[in-house]
Amino acid sequence: MAARDPVCGMPVDPATAAYSVEVRGGTYYFSSELCRDTFVEGEKIAYFSMEIGLESEIPTYSGGLGVLAGDVIRSSADLLIPMVAVTLVNRKGYVRQRLTPDGDQIDLPDEWDPGAHMRELSRRVTVRIGDANVAIRAWLSDYWSPVGGLVPVLFLDTDLPENAPGDRGITDHLYGGDQEYRLKQAIVLGIGGARMLAAQGIRVGKYHINESHSSLLTLELLKRPGMDEEKVQTHCIFTTHTPVAVAFETFPRDMVVRLLAGEIPPALLGEYIAKDGLALATLAFRLSRYVNGVTTAHMNFSRRLFPGFHIRAVTNGVHPHTWTSGTFRDLYDRYIAGWAQEPELLVRVDEIPHEDIRHAHQQAKQALVDYVREKNGVALDLRALTIGFARRATAYKRATLIFSDLEKLREAGRRGAIQLVFSGKAHPADAVGKQQIREVHNAMRDLEGEVTAVYLENYTMDLASLMTAGVDVWLNTPLPPYEASGTSGMKAALNGVVNFSVLDGWWIEGWLEGTTGWAIGPGPGAPASEAERRARELQDLYSKLEYLIIPTYYHRRDEWTTIMRSSIAKIAYYFNTHRMMRRYATEAYL
Ligand SMILES: *Cc1c(COP(=O)(O)O)cnc(C)c1O
Repeated sequence: MAARDPVCGMPVDPATAAYSVEVRGGTYYFSSELCRDTFVEGEKIAYFSMEIGLESEIPTYSGGLGVLAGDVIRSSADLLIPMVAVTLVNRKGYVRQRLTPDGDQIDLPDEWDPGAHMRELSRRVTVRIGDANVAIRAWLSDYWSPVGGLVPVLFLDTDLPENAPGDRGITDHLYGGDQEYRLKQAIVLGIGGARMLAAQGIRVGKYHINESHSSLLTLELLKRPGMDEEKVQTHCIFTTHTPVAVAFETFPRDMVVRLLAGEIPPALLGEYIAKDGLALATLAFRLSRYVNGVTTAHMNFSRRLFPGFHIRAVTNGVHPHTWTSGTFRDLYDRYIAGWAQEPELLVRVDEIPHEDIRHAHQQAKQALVDYVREKNGVALDLRALTIGFARRATAYKRATLIFSDLEKLREAGRRGAIQLVFSGKAHPADAVGKQQIREVHNAMRDLEGEVTAVYLENYTMDLASLMTAGVDVWLNTPLPPYEASGTSGMKAALNGVVNFSVLDGWWIEGWLEGTTGWAIGPGPGAPASEAERRARELQDLYSKLEYLIIPTYYHRRDEWTTIMRSSIAKIAYYFNTHRMMRRYATEAYL
């Protein structure tokens, strides 16, 4: 059995390896003593995220934030960045979506068995929450890069017999329950997580707080001997993902004091609670030396929301190999050796003939067509212009925008057939998100016989792979400035799928009109009232569809394929997590 040195990435043969170590219930092999010692004693980057998307079968993510965290782990392992990740086990997942024919979402638990996927670590920790001692165990999933090293991922779990029934459920539901439940989760993740790493003997050089849910770890660090605010700051990196003030959750003072008094001395806690309570984001801002937003536009919004902090921008990406379909992987391997590890090489995509690009895309499209037939019993036309839209169903994503004027949509469809593939789950408590899914279904029914449209149930990472590679155009219509980044359009670009998007988040940086895709509505600087904005968005949506996108797709095939190639050469080469992690490594981690 071949093994790999987790530190330097060299292949090693366990039968003959001179160096090995047993830690955390596993045996690891090394090519040198130095690698072994680095593995055991070296400082790690501890990446904390409330959600992590490793794979569809481990349903501990709700959307882009978790999938990004998974891509951070995948790229870090590829690049031999010494990282360890911490999250919650979310035994009942986020939500498994069932849809009635009318588009009513039925919320089912998405229970999974950590024991079937990971190994339990023997060392446990305890945190005091209110007047209870809550025991925490960790499940370990070792993420091995096929080309590089290892990132261990710890899933914290309070479902232990010694805990009170209520506390056993703290790590059940991602973003579930009430505010008190979410604060308990933040305590387990932040304080329990930092403590768990110490209990495992893992030395941490930097703590990367991916969105503020884990920011209580800063207070845990402050309590350690020899620490003060300035020293904690040098150890902490905070990436904010939220663009609007109302989205920063503030926990009421009484609740914070009641739940945290046993862990954080009141005097210390008092320093960080404002009159209206404790905002985890404010804590992360104040106690992190390196703070960043996830696109340039998002950096600018964050600077306005949090004046006085030095906020930078590290634009998000996606993991190149994971989000490239099999047929495009083969194609890139053939023409652009090394692309997955050096995605910058994708600028050379012009060397791939149009025929090959079209062929690879048609195969990815066929896979989606097959899936739709199997799941929804609908026969899509492999030749027809196919538009995809899939993401969390929530108000600002505006899944229904394209259905604002059905007559215009029908009219566009008469120029050349269009078909629509939708997917996306609503949070169980998000009534507006659920209403949107219903409205999409209503519109689809109204369009029957003229525009073929399907809604695929239970959006997952696997389905995201299939859709972002298998459609022709990837539609995105968020209400600015709510889309801090967005990442699914980057997945599309890796597969030569063309973006048609509102100018928000990453698209402001990726958009070259008519070259990498098309914009919907005014640019970010344009002062426009809400009504004006909407009018211009609808104008662009329908007229670009009818007069640019459809004619190009059907009648100027070479021009269309050139746009597909530009999408790869001018988007995918840059909007990937390899570039992103190299930036975090050199600017924030070193
Ligand atoms: C990539 C991904 C997302 C992010 O989609 P956006 O359009 O960027 O919001 C959400 N859910 C899943 C399952 C994904 O794979």
